[in-house]
Amino acid sequence: MKVVRSKVIGYCFGVSNTINKAEECIQRSKDEKLPCYSIGQLIHNKDVVEHFMSEGMVNSESPDGLEPGIALVRAHGIPESLWRRYENAGFRIVDSTCPIVAKGAETIRKAAQKGSNTIIIGVKGHAETIGLLGVELPDGRAVDSHLICSMEDARELCVSRRLKEDSDIVVVVQTTFPEKEFQAIRRYLKTCFSKIRFSNSPCGATEARGKAALELASQTDAVIVIGGKNSENTRGLARRVAETGKPVYSIENDKDLDERLLEELSAYSSVGICSGSSTPTSTIRAVEEILERL
Ligand code: SF4
Repeated sequence: MKVVRSKVIGYCFGVSNTINKAEECIQRSKDEKLPCYSIGQLIHNKDVVEHFMSEGMVNSESPDGLEPGIALVRAHGIPESLWRRYENAGFRIVDSTCPIVAKGAETIRKAAQKGSNTIIIGVKGHAETIGLLGVELPDGRAVDSHLICSMEDARELCVSRRLKEDSDIVVVVQTTFPEKEFQAIRRYLKTCFSKIRFSNSPCGATEARGKAALELASQTDAVIVIGGKNSENTRGLARRVAETGKPVYSIENDKDLDERLLEELSAYSSVGICSGSSTPTSTIRAVEEILERL
């Protein structure tokens, strides 16, 4: 079987930075004999999370009841109030918030300082969305952003008249929000508000992966998407490929290639493989090696 790799694969630079910082934290915690924590799940990939846990990193959601140590802020960022709670409890924070995510948070803060209204378009419950909703003004007051997770939410916001038609509005979108849905919501909001400004678009790294996956789908009989089940950009890749009508298989790692699936895949003469931005190249290579033997 011919196995074709996507042109854009492996970690995005934000995740890569988090992994490097996580290694630094583990080393520092060993040198300084301090506990080591990630604040929230390190990245959306269970193999990588398990690896760092085996090295001594503990996943934490709050500082309550924990012995202070080194705490890593992951690429998605965290609400500022949570950051303060860790600092006030004596933890040493290592920040690996992706600069693109941090810029979105800064845009919200500056817009609110100037008196503009702010809208966040994001996946409900996603760590980055929660972080953006937790942006504060310099005096510690939380910015009261409006959250839109779907076209229904956008319609509801327009119809409710919670924001006036001519209000100054700044919009920030979560970096891995589906591009197509974002564009539809963007077009709609522009018909409702005359002074609305969109400060960003979903991250270029996510879009580049999506485009490369579509190219792969056009060149192969089926596409395998490798990545965490809880990874929004991995799920987005699978959705985009599925829309082309090509068979798409979502797996987390090589262990998911069981006998039944391998038998099904062996019917294809070519298979493409792509991955979400939090999938390590070692996992991609392990999948590739099995497929190449078919
Ligand atoms: S997807 Fe983009 S914004 Fe998100 S962590 Fe990666 S590089 Fe940063």
